[in-house]
Amino acid sequence: MSTSKAKVLIAFDFDHTIVDENSEPFVFDKLAPNGIPDDIKSLYNRLGWNEYVGAVFAYLHSKGTSVDEIKKALYEVKLTAGMKQLLDLIKSEGLEAIIISDANSVFINELLKKFNLTETFSTVYTNPSKVEENGLITISYYHKQDWCDLSTVNMCKGHILDEHIKTNGGYDKVMYVGDGYNDLCPALRLRKSDVVCPRIGFSLKKSIENLAPPHELHARVVNWLDATELLQVTKSLTEKD
Ligand SMILES: [Mg+2]
Repeated sequence: MSTSKAKVLIAFDFDHTIVDENSEPFVFDKLAPNGIPDDIKSLYNRLGWNEYVGAVFAYLHSKGTSVDEIKKALYEVKLTAGMKQLLDLIKSEGLEAIIISDANSVFINELLKKFNLTETFSTVYTNPSKVEENGLITISYYHKQDWCDLSTVNMCKGHILDEHIKTNGGYDKVMYVGDGYNDLCPALRLRKSDVVCPRIGFSLKKSIENLAPPHELHARVVNWLDATELLQVTKSLTEKD
């Protein structure tokens, strides 16, 4: 009898999944308590989330908000309940974990450092951002895609997941943990032997429940609210079928 463990990949969304808040709007609310001007707000609908976030960073910079003030607000973001236990289990089992997030690299890297989780993830796929010399945070697209109707132009998470799987020679089992509508594309690419974990109370769960042809979900669904509800399924992934 073979005792070898299954090769496992666990892919996580970041906002409302690893952390309990939506990190960018959370920080903006803290630093612009009287709201963001309407002409900047309208960028979200006209040009997309990334343009909006970039414009808010520019607005905060123009108002004299420093990077340290942005980081201080960001550090108030909390890990989701049970997430520490789940990530500790992933580490102790030696499982590979990645992040695929439509947030930005400065925010994610800062929070992973704060939570001492930098070593937990083999790769972080997100929109590249950086702090310029003058203290302005700039953000750009992860990629520019025209092949997926379920995803925004700057990020098709399903494509990123598929590429990661291919580049690493495939996995026996893949688990995807997320909450948002942009987590639907990767969920639909999973196989019968894989698991998708939509967070209760968020749009991925509803999107899966309301799925209509031609879209079809093959993976097993494990809903969760507190990440301790994912400990058991995570342990079971290492067993070879
Ligand atoms: Mg999310």
